Amino acid sequence: MTRTNLHIWTAYVTIILLAGSCTFQPPGYYIALSGSTQGTSYHITYESNDSINYQSEIDTLLRQFDLSLSTYEPASIISRINRDEKNVELSDLFINCYTASRQVFEESGGAFDITVAPVVNAWGFGFTEKSDPDSTMIDSLLQFVGMDKIKLENGKIIKDHPGVMLDVNAIAQGYAVDVVSEYLESKGITNYLVEIGGEVRTTGINPRGQIWRVGIDKPIDGIQIPGMQMEAIIRLKNRSLATSGNYRRFYMKDGVKYSHTIDPVTGYPVSHNLLSATVLADECMIADGFATAFMVLGLEKSEEILKNKKNLDAYLIFTDENGQYDVFYTPGLRKFLLKATD
Ligand code: AMP
Ligand code: MG
Repeated sequence: MTRTNLHIWTAYVTIILLAGSCTFQPPGYYIALSGSTQGTSYHITYESNDSINYQSEIDTLLRQFDLSLSTYEPASIISRINRDEKNVELSDLFINCYTASRQVFEESGGAFDITVAPVVNAWGFGFTEKSDPDSTMIDSLLQFVGMDKIKLENGKIIKDHPGVMLDVNAIAQGYAVDVVSEYLESKGITNYLVEIGGEVRTTGINPRGQIWRVGIDKPIDGIQIPGMQMEAIIRLKNRSLATSGNYRRFYMKDGVKYSHTIDPVTGYPVSHNLLSATVLADECMIADGFATAFMVLGLEKSEEILKNKKNLDAYLIFTDENGQYDVFYTPGLRKFLLKATD
């Protein structure tokens, strides 16, 4: 059988819908949808027994999602909390995302922290104008950062100080993937792939009758087109995958690279030899949260966490002492890993 690859371009990963030679299994009828949400694109493919196209329902779901969690939507619940409106009524979407965020905060030793918003904004990666911060400004903003400064009580968010703000962009795409996936499952769909901005969840098989495949990009600074140079391909079986990296969203100033991943302890963009972190978990929001946490923690501390968290797998790309790419991956990933050329 000849090889046919159909690539969909997304952030950090490439979804490979038709790939490789295989024991051919007659495919069912698959529907492919694409659109935009959260400032990025989505691609959804699912097997349909009844030919129903769920695009408008999914777009409505994603719109509801933004009205809860988008910091770019002034009327959203999160924006109202950030403006310090009182007694904001929370949605289930907000509460689930907040609860998962606190879980990843605790399990990552505070590396993942959604209260990092004021510093993310100051560095120019958030929802306000960039302010070229100096160390005095970072120190004063850090007084508003920390999950101990906010709590969820009796269905309401209570902040210690009006300056405390939330940014769930490191977990929201993954959560949106879960929400859409669960919607498809509620319709009895058992073979699907949902991808939003490079965060992916799959169940069952692809149109070729195979386990779904996702390509991980080489982390080359400034390369904006996913799939140009793939590092590896991961077979994703009934699982989610999310990738964080510092090679797409960063800027250079006076020869210094400022990445969009901020260490909530120092208030500064991280700088180390971990170039990209791909995490696999059952839920995409957990994968997404940990991918960001690992980019904060760097290689060694991420490996430590992975030793103790058997529900996570990861594929970490870093530079070695000679400046060459090297990879670390968890043992559980071995049998799902294909070289980019396979
Ligand atoms: P991701 O691409 O999933 O790693 O998310 C990156 C985004 O998360 C950034 O653009 C910020 O909005 C936000 N962010 C940056 N640093 C952190 C952090 N330490 N914890 C939580 N969110 C962060
Ligand atoms: Mg993330």
